[in-house]
Amino acid sequence: MKISRRYALKSFFSLISYISLSNFSLAKNQSLIGKDVIIIGAGISGLIAASTLIQKGANVIILEAKNYIGGRIRTDRSLGSPFEYGAGWIHGPSHDNPIRNLANRSNSSLFITEDDSCELFNLSGNEIDEKVWDKIEKVWEEITYNEIDRNTKGSILDAIYEYDSNIWNDPNIRWVFSAYEEFDYGGPIHEISAGLIQDMSSFPTDDVIFKDGYDKIINLLAKNLKIKTNSIVKSVNYMSKNNIIVSTKSKNYECDYVICSVPLGVLKSNSIEFNPALPNYKQDSIEKVGFGTVSKLALKFTDQFWNSDVQYYYTVAKETGRWPIWMNYRTFSKKKILMGLCFGDYAKKADLLTTEELTEDGLKVLTNIWEDDVGKVQNVLRTSWLSDPFTRGAYSFPRVDNSKEDFENLAESIDNKLFFCGEHTYLKYLATTHGAFLTGIRAANEVIKATKN
Ligand SMILES: Cc1cc2nc3c(=O)[nH]c(=O)nc-3n(C[C@H](O)[C@H](O)[C@H](O)COP(=O)(O)OP(=O)(O)OC[C@H]3O[C@@H](n4cnc5c(N)ncnc54)[C@H](O)[C@@H]3O)c2cc1C
Repeated sequence: MKISRRYALKSFFSLISYISLSNFSLAKNQSLIGKDVIIIGAGISGLIAASTLIQKGANVIILEAKNYIGGRIRTDRSLGSPFEYGAGWIHGPSHDNPIRNLANRSNSSLFITEDDSCELFNLSGNEIDEKVWDKIEKVWEEITYNEIDRNTKGSILDAIYEYDSNIWNDPNIRWVFSAYEEFDYGGPIHEISAGLIQDMSSFPTDDVIFKDGYDKIINLLAKNLKIKTNSIVKSVNYMSKNNIIVSTKSKNYECDYVICSVPLGVLKSNSIEFNPALPNYKQDSIEKVGFGTVSKLALKFTDQFWNSDVQYYYTVAKETGRWPIWMNYRTFSKKKILMGLCFGDYAKKADLLTTEELTEDGLKVLTNIWEDDVGKVQNVLRTSWLSDPFTRGAYSFPRVDNSKEDFENLAESIDNKLFFCGEHTYLKYLATTHGAFLTGIRAANEVIKATKN
C-alpha cells in the first residue's frame, strides 16, 4: 500500500470532521457530466456517495441485491411501533453528527434513551443491590480506563485476566463486559483488540432513537436516485483501461468508476468476483478484520408485567452475551414490547436458532425475573444478520491481530477506478451509521478527484 494515499485519506477525514455536511457535498460544479458510475449496495454509505456524485453531474446507478434499500438500516412497523432490524440509535446526536442533521431534515421525532434509567437483575432473578452494582462498574471502569491503553496487546478478555485471573468466573462481571463492550464493538470479548479500540471515537451527547423509524433518513437520501433492487452483483471486471464491467445474473453494466459499498461480511465471503483479484494487502485485511453479529428479539405481550418508566432491564445469565439488555418500549410507545439483545459468541448461536427457539430462550430469562407474571406473547420480530447472504453479520470490530493499516487498506481505492466505502472502512467511527455515511462522502470525493487525473 502507498503511504501517500494513507496520508491523503487521513487528512480528508480530519477535514470533513470540521465541515458542515448539510449540503452533503464538498463540491459544487458539474465536472462529472458524461461519467458513468456504478455503486454496489444501497445502504447509507452507497446512497450518500450517489447523492454526492449526482450533484457533480455524474450518471449514477445503484445496484442493490435485496428487494429493499437501506441495508443495515431497516424499520418494520408491523408491531405498531418501529422495530429496527439494524441501527436503532443515533450515537452521539450532537450537531456535528451528520445523522442528526439528516434526522432534522427528515422531520424525524427523536427520543433520548436514558442509560441511567435501568434495573439490573442477578442470576437468581433478584434485583442487584446498588452497592454490588457499583462494585461491578468499578471493576469495568478500572480495566477499561486504567488497565487498557493504545499500547495494550491482546484482547479485552486478556486485559481482564491480567487485572484479576479469577474475576471472569463472576457472572456479574461477564454481564458488564458483554453489555458495555461486546454491544459497542459487536464482537466476542476474547477477540476484540484492547489497544485498537482506543482509536475509535464518538460524537458527544446522549443517544437517541427515531420514534417514527430510522428508515426516514434512508427515504430522504434515496429521493431522485436511480436504484435497481433485486440486482445481485456477481462480478466486477476492471481489467480494461477504458471501462469497467459490473455483472449481475441478468445484465452487464459498463461504467467509468465503481464504488463498492457491500458489508465486510460479503467481501469476506468472496461472493463477488473481482477481475483482476483484489491486491493481496487488501484481501489480507478483509480476512483479518473482525465482523461479528448482534441478535435482536422484540416480544410484544398481551399484558404488561413490567414498569413503564424504566428504560432498560439488565439481566445476568450464565452464558456471556445471553440477553444482557432489554429495551422497554413503554417509555416512548403505547405498545407492550420488550426488545432483547444478544452479543458476542452467544449472538452467533442465537442468530441461527428458529424463531420459536429464540423466543423460548428470551422468555426463560424474563421468567427468571417476573416468574408467572410473564404473560402471552402476541407477536415476535427477530433478526438473523449472520444468515443474511448480503450482510453475513452485524458490524465490524478491530480484532486482536489487526492494525490501523488494515482499516486503511479496506478503504483504499484501486487504479483510480474501483473505490470502497462502508462502515468497515473507517476505524474512527466503525460500526455506526455516521461512520458509514462519512465513508460514502469520502469515496465520492475520491472519484471526483480521480476524474481530474
Ligand atoms: C443489529 C445491528 C444494530 C446496529 N445498531 C446501530 C446503532 O444503534 N447505531 C448506529 O450508528 N449503527 C448501528 N449499526 C451499524 C449500522 O447499521 C451500519 O454501520 C450501517 O448501516 C452500515 O451502512 P453501510 O452502507 O456501510 O452498509 P449496508 O447498510 O450493509 O449496505 C450495504 C448494501 O450492500 C448490499 N449488497 C451486499 N452484497 C451485494 C451484492 N452482491 N450486490 C448488490 N448489493 C449488495 C446489501 O444488501 C446492503 O444493502 C447496527 C447494525 C446492526 C446490524
